[in-house]
Amino acid sequence: RNAQFAAKRAKSGRQVERYQTHAFTIAREQFAMETALRRAIEERQLRLAFQPICDLASGSIVSFEALARWRDPHGVEQEPSVFIPVAEESGLIVPLGRWAMEEAARTLRWWDEECGGTCGMRMGVNLSAIQMQRDDIAPVVEAALIRHELKGDRFTIELTESAIVSDPDRIAGIMHALKGLGCTLAMDDFGTGYSNLAYLQKLPIDILKIDRSFVSGMLGDRDKIAIVRAVLSLAEALGMKTTAEGIESNELAQTLAALGCTYGQGYLYARPLEAPDALAMIGSARAAATTWSAS
Ligand code: C2E
Ligand code: MG
Ligand code: MG
Ligand code: MG
Repeated sequence: RNAQFAAKRAKSGRQVERYQTHAFTIAREQFAMETALRRAIEERQLRLAFQPICDLASGSIVSFEALARWRDPHGVEQEPSVFIPVAEESGLIVPLGRWAMEEAARTLRWWDEECGGTCGMRMGVNLSAIQMQRDDIAPVVEAALIRHELKGDRFTIELTESAIVSDPDRIAGIMHALKGLGCTLAMDDFGTGYSNLAYLQKLPIDILKIDRSFVSGMLGDRDKIAIVRAVLSLAEALGMKTTAEGIESNELAQTLAALGCTYGQGYLYARPLEAPDALAMIGSARAAATTWSAS
């Protein structure tokens, strides 16, 4: 029995050891990525990609969402779903978010100049919940607007529900300050974060972005359709607009338009584009609109 017990203990010891090695490997990888990301921010290895958002009723592009991209020094494209959480845990999300706001404003200004005045597009910028908690973001947004001579109404700030949880009063103050600058506020990934809906009546939210997990695949799924319908009617009752994420088919776009969803975003329209490609897309949309009104 003693031998059996000793053997068991040795085995669990090995398991603990293996677990610790595994945890250590993860911690080390995390730390390596954090170091690389810190350098990436300093050395400007990050860039933004831009994905169009369309008005579902007319089909025209109304805005672009700026999405961070990182090609590491080995030439590997790192996924935002991997490096954004690392940035959040390490606090690097603060300089990253500030950079994203600045870079988005710089790009929008460039598009305006290329279009000889205004490109007519709005720009969506993602701000992490962690950043909302740690950083005073409204002055950062205001500085970027001034620097690039842009009005606040050209920007949509995308927040997630988790931003509201920790310090609702502070976050409400920041949101009102952003509204004061003229920005539109969108609740990103709506329906995935936080089930207390009371905040919807207290905070100045303009748009609910319905998470891709409800939208894609909803055509064959009565439960998903029910959730999407519920979000659409909630938004309508509260005077908010809606954006459906993850639209990959024409049929889905038509269904969402028929259900009254305001905007749509997804691979059907375009994947996130490099800035010059997004500008080209704006150019052809504008050319088509001119031809249309001239004929
Ligand atoms: P998000 O803000 O919900 O952005 C939409 C994500 O869905 C993007 O992924 C986009 O490429 C993807 N997407 C759009 N349409 C489709 C589609 O039709 N099908 C599929 N399968 N995917 C689609 P991405 O660029 O990988 O970004 C992932 C997340 O990382 C973002 O989700 C956002 O939460 C975060 N993120 C990205 N850039 C930034 C940033 O600059 N700052 C912060 N704080 N977060 C960011
Ligand atoms: Mg977003
Ligand atoms: Mg989203
Ligand atoms: Mg999402």
